Amino acid sequence: MTPRDPRSIVAAKRDGRRLTEAEVRSFVEAYTGGAVTDALAAAFLMASLLNGLDPEETLSLTRAMVDSGDTVSFSDLGRPTVDKHSTGGVADGVTLVFAPLAAALGLAVAKLSGRGLGHTGGTLDKLESIPGLRTDLSPHEIRSQVAEVGCAVAAQSANLVPADGALYALRDATATVPSVPLIAASVMSKKLAVGTDLILLDVKAGSGAFMKTADEARELAGACLSLASGWGREASAAVTDMSQPLGDAVGNALDVAEAIAVLAGEPAGRLRELSVLFAARALEATRGVGRDDALAQAAAALDGGAAIDRFRAMVQAQGGDPRVVDDPAAVLPHAPVRAPILSDRTGTLAAVRAEDIGLASVALGAGRVRKGDPIDPAVGIVVRPKIGDRVEAGQPIGEIHARDRDAADEAARRVLGAMDVADGPVEPPPLVHAWM
Ligand code: URA
Repeated sequence: MTPRDPRSIVAAKRDGRRLTEAEVRSFVEAYTGGAVTDALAAAFLMASLLNGLDPEETLSLTRAMVDSGDTVSFSDLGRPTVDKHSTGGVADGVTLVFAPLAAALGLAVAKLSGRGLGHTGGTLDKLESIPGLRTDLSPHEIRSQVAEVGCAVAAQSANLVPADGALYALRDATATVPSVPLIAASVMSKKLAVGTDLILLDVKAGSGAFMKTADEARELAGACLSLASGWGREASAAVTDMSQPLGDAVGNALDVAEAIAVLAGEPAGRLRELSVLFAARALEATRGVGRDDALAQAAAALDGGAAIDRFRAMVQAQGGDPRVVDDPAAVLPHAPVRAPILSDRTGTLAAVRAEDIGLASVALGAGRVRKGDPIDPAVGIVVRPKIGDRVEAGQPIGEIHARDRDAADEAARRVLGAMDVADGPVEPPPLVHAWM
């Protein structure tokens, strides 16, 4: 066996040895080039998850992933460029709102997104529920769309970070997602391959996130920020609440419909609030706008129609049906069964196991169980109450969109089982735990 035999690299990590940059690079290159099987790569991922990767190994993995494809730069666009990424949550449609909102504020947003991972939804799967919409944009297409429209949301592809595309899908299928170094390398490889002036990270903490506590999320944010600073890139991270679904819609078309409502100025809710906070942060960091002014500009872009106008232009540029903006219900796919979820208790919503709600949506077909599985864009769950809200037995709290009645009943049972109801008042959790 030569030292670069991919099995010896996996064995070294299995036995707790630190991998050199050359070893990490040769493994990633061999996997991306087809010389390493999914089985061996899954063993590498599990060994890395269990025994950890130190900051140097994480940097080596990130470098190898960035170098697996082309990079794209936006230095000559004449306006500040921003990328934003969430580490993954449930009913987390912030990117769908943020990208056109920031474009409406005069920034340029170039973003490589991911697909659904584990119990979490993925921006690409959501966007592709719009008929005709493509996310497999080439670096050239991303550049020209960002120049014309102000925003583009695309997939990592054969040209851009292909190693992340392959490893991401394999992690989803092999229970190897919740690892700080693997998530940091995955997120940051997509950010570092795209040369923007600012990287904004939404690091989720809570029952619906991969990091279950704010402390774990801070560790992940720190790992991502140190990769950015090692690259000489400006980045800022917020640790945000995922102790319950962020918005109301968990699915793909359902998430898009909710994002369109927020873009059209629907006044309240945590999805709108967080999207405005990120857009304001981008204005502050890139244009030096004061915080209150930045928040007011972001809210005005939602309320005045500028943000939804950019969303329409983005959908059209990516081949999607732009009428989705004016009549989402007519354009987005529908599930054949739509059944109400009726609360089985009276009291105050005290806790939500958001991961269970995400998994109930995956079981309906909105996410993947095996690598490469097709997903059903129409199915999913709408659940409205947030922690601290009052619920009444027998009253509707949302609905299930399913292929058949049995699937709908099972999903409703799982949603109700994921909620704790208390007798007395309950304080809602903060939306943002910390900015780093
Ligand atoms: N988002 C990513 O891009 N990668 C992960 O591993 C998790 C969330």
